[in-house]
Amino acid sequence: MSASFPPQIPASAPFSPVQRLWLDGYLAGIFAAQGLATNNAPGGQLTTSGEAKPKPRVLVMYASQSGNSEELASEFGEKLTAAGFDAPVIGTEDHTEIELGNESHLLIVSSTWGEGDPPDNAVEFWDLLKSDNHPRLENLHFAVLGLGDSNYLDFCAMGKLFDARFEALGATRITARGDCDTDFEEPAANWLNTVLGELSSLSDASTSAAEPDKATISANSAPAYDKKNPFPARLLMNRRLNAEGSARDTRHFEIELTGSGLSYEVGDVLGVYPHNHPQCVDELTAALAFDGDQIVTLPDGEQITLRRALLERFDIRNVNRPLLEAWAPACDSELLRKLLADDSDASAIESYLWGREIIDLVNEHRPRFASPEDFLALLRRIGARLYSISSSPKAHPDEVHLTIARVEYEAHDRRRLGVCSSFLSDRVYPEGEVNVFLQTAKHFKLPTDLNTPVIMVGPGTGIAPFRAFLEERRATEAAGLNWLFFGNPHEANDFLYRDELEVMIEDGTLQRFDTAWSRDQETKIYVQDRMREAGAELWKWLTEGAHFYVCGDAKRMAKDVDDVLHEVIAEYGGKSASETAAYVADMKKSKRYQRDVY
Ligand code: NAP
Repeated sequence: MSASFPPQIPASAPFSPVQRLWLDGYLAGIFAAQGLATNNAPGGQLTTSGEAKPKPRVLVMYASQSGNSEELASEFGEKLTAAGFDAPVIGTEDHTEIELGNESHLLIVSSTWGEGDPPDNAVEFWDLLKSDNHPRLENLHFAVLGLGDSNYLDFCAMGKLFDARFEALGATRITARGDCDTDFEEPAANWLNTVLGELSSLSDASTSAAEPDKATISANSAPAYDKKNPFPARLLMNRRLNAEGSARDTRHFEIELTGSGLSYEVGDVLGVYPHNHPQCVDELTAALAFDGDQIVTLPDGEQITLRRALLERFDIRNVNRPLLEAWAPACDSELLRKLLADDSDASAIESYLWGREIIDLVNEHRPRFASPEDFLALLRRIGARLYSISSSPKAHPDEVHLTIARVEYEAHDRRRLGVCSSFLSDRVYPEGEVNVFLQTAKHFKLPTDLNTPVIMVGPGTGIAPFRAFLEERRATEAAGLNWLFFGNPHEANDFLYRDELEVMIEDGTLQRFDTAWSRDQETKIYVQDRMREAGAELWKWLTEGAHFYVCGDAKRMAKDVDDVLHEVIAEYGGKSASETAAYVADMKKSKRYQRDVY
């Protein structure tokens, strides 16, 4: 019979979470001081003097799609470390590297994807966790922070699911789940402060042994330019990529980063803060009978004109359930009352909200606001839009390029423009500045081995990161082969970056290029049809270690491409359905299958 050093504290022992964590560290310290390896508290450490300085371990995991949860988890890891904890941070895709049953404390930061689904990197972890035969986690103390967007009915669905599942498995909450909206920094910092407060007696208790640094979490402890303090960048170029006559309007933007101190890698994302359309602001103030020149006081105490507040600070478009709930008391609408009263029919609210904006609410359910501030109090702060960067910094030093479809459509008898795409396309260039920040995307990166072949599937604006990848592969003289699948409606009008791609074929950067012009013939042809046609070759590249990347539409394209990838592996690899699923899961785990879908 083998003994465990230091001994495990039985789950049934009558210790509070804090006492348990302290005891884990204390025991680890004693055993470490005796020169014994610890296998109970992975965070237990020896100082060079040999004195035990056990650090209580708090594991931080993230389930992230766009990188927000990942970035937040890293920040949490740093703050916990500064507070004297051993706080490793891992993505949920790496769940096999840990044994949840051996962990005592876990923080999980999760975004939600699609219709209440887990992000790509959490699919496997969530499948395992929710399985009926998952071992109980009675020793675990956990806290979940969900990130989401309250415009969606499934707001923070994955955070809620993780939270409920850990509870069902017998784990104990360190603190209540946090549900953060798009403006998550401050609530997330507050949530972590609460967690640290809950763990502080543990930290205090172990201070005698470990003397950890005390960390105060501040929402503002940040480098020069970031999401909270964006860089005012000059827009150097705004060029339409579609030819005259195309139904689409996809733009190429070039933004100057000189003097910002900001740097990025290909695959990363640029955050852009848009301004609302002045016409929308004027319509809104007129409909509400407010004077746009009136000075208003914002929640942070700043005093500016109402017009500027509505142009730059608030989301004046999106209507979501919380806004409806706050709106209903301000007007006398039977329809809104009924809609909100029937909790059982979420789809009724969804279909009511479709295409409706705040101006529609004002016109249809005229509210009574005592002051502009009462109206502003209902609005969310305007959020940054995140765009996949379409340039390599090696090819364009001090610049960042974007490839964005200008969104325009009709709803409820009005012409609607995408807030940020119309801001960049119509209202900034040539004189203006745009507030930007960079966000790393560790989940969407070129292979570090330059000899590795890459396959890129990017129809429409999905080409953005692959222009950057190809520029990077050329600049680094990567020997690995490059294969691009691109699709759009018509070859004549919608061949984005045609000239550049043709040069890349000529100069040997792009070895294989397959196009799918969906509307140049009677039957639609999509990128996945081209993948199917080239199945044998695709399989050969995969067996040679190629990385497989997808960027673009999440709802249909990414799913259909995934289906065909499975088909190709099954057919040319001679694999059963379960072997194919295992092969794809392994590709994801080894980061050979990466997606940037929206
Ligand atoms: P896109 O709409 O994604 O279209 C690019 C190409 O993909 C077109 O040839 C399109 O063909 C084709 N396509 C359509 N369904 C497909 C599928 N299931 N599998 C593979 N290919 C498929 O192009 P975009 O330039 O990136 O976007 C243009 C507009 O769509 C923008 O207004 C953008 O905002 C919007 N958009 C919305 C979402 C979203 O809401 N999630 C996602 C992506 C794009 P056909 O059009 O001929 O069928």
